[in-house]
Amino acid sequence: MSSPELQQTLGKSAALSGTSLHTGEKVTLKLHPAPVDHGLKFRRKDLQDEPTISALIDNLKMVERATTIGEGSVRVHTVEHVVSALAAMGVDNAIVEMDANEPPIGDGSAVPYVELIKKAGVMPQEAPRRIFEVREPIHVETNSGSLLVVLPDEKFRISCTQVGPNGRFAQFFSTEITPAIYEREIAAARTFVFYEDVQPLMEKNLIKGGSLENAIVVRGDAVLSKEPLRFPDEFVRHKILDIIGDLALFGQRIRGHVVAVKPGHGSNTELARAFQREYAKTMPALPRRAFPAGEGGLDINQIMAILPHRYPFLMVDRIVGFEGEKKIIGVKSVSINEPFFAGHFPAHPVMPGVLQLEAMAQVASILMMKLTKSASRLGYFISADSVKFRKPVMPGDTLFIHAELTKARSNRLAKAKCYCAVNEAVVSEGELMFTFLDK
Ligand SMILES: [Zn+2]
Repeated sequence: MSSPELQQTLGKSAALSGTSLHTGEKVTLKLHPAPVDHGLKFRRKDLQDEPTISALIDNLKMVERATTIGEGSVRVHTVEHVVSALAAMGVDNAIVEMDANEPPIGDGSAVPYVELIKKAGVMPQEAPRRIFEVREPIHVETNSGSLLVVLPDEKFRISCTQVGPNGRFAQFFSTEITPAIYEREIAAARTFVFYEDVQPLMEKNLIKGGSLENAIVVRGDAVLSKEPLRFPDEFVRHKILDIIGDLALFGQRIRGHVVAVKPGHGSNTELARAFQREYAKTMPALPRRAFPAGEGGLDINQIMAILPHRYPFLMVDRIVGFEGEKKIIGVKSVSINEPFFAGHFPAHPVMPGVLQLEAMAQVASILMMKLTKSASRLGYFISADSVKFRKPVMPGDTLFIHAELTKARSNRLAKAKCYCAVNEAVVSEGELMFTFLDK
């Protein structure tokens, strides 16, 4: 068995400066390392409080000519090339800090970013990557004639057909995407525009930083650019560069074959949304909010680092979230393989109510240990009041275990109101009291 792919970040920070395409302003962009499960985030260094925006599809704001993301009133434009380079070079976690609302356009390709990433170095981290494996074909079609189909595949591959106005410059390219292939075959492909598309923008002065140094302009059958074409099929390769950047907004690695015909930012980001919907469906027991990053929840290893309980007496699989300081929600998937079902009862398996109470106690004590940062101490369950068992819990149920801290005294004594729910219905409840003692 191969070891799992690990998440990666940058070895150190690295910076580059240039001109932003739409405003023509000077901008400095710095890449910084970031912790596990952080994802890719942009930071606006030029604004008060330096707000950050996650490079995620939920923050998508605009797809005209370039991909714009935002949170609240803060925007970052034209994120696709830097995000493409980070994703394709294998960087899962990073901060992209800028002192403007748009990265430098460079030469219209991803080469400046690939060089910057290599300067910073790429380092493995201590957590596995989440990878979305495409199991059934997914497709997206837009009114503008874009068609994207994704098929199951052992690798991440893209096959793309690009066609200009009136069928001009039809090109096809197909490749697996790895850091080495991206660097050699894709990164250098520059932005291209058809003259008829940019002429109105030039008249409105909307592309102040645009020039033949950072884009190829196609006028009729003539190709205008500062340097000759870098590949005979440079346009379709740039389309693949953009697809990688836009799909990275899905936030997970993809294993599948993307077949794209006349793709654009609109269709690419729609596909990223479709991935998000499919990904959520593969985990029907838990809503998407059940998989938060970092502070949001705890996985089984983090739980076992806090609680001394072990199989068959560990009654929580995952902490799905905290609400403020006083509330916590845990989850336990109840399966027919639970040892207690063998005797409770052989012909009619029902989860014992006292074990639900135990589950509440374990989840509540995780909250208290988090609050008092007292993982070096053990919580002892000293009383339970108003306990009610309302509905039977059977194999196949997902138990959502809720606890709310109602009273805490002197770091030694605490009270929590708890309940368990299955399919939104309360199945058991109780008020628990704990004391804490040193281990
Ligand atoms: Zn592009």
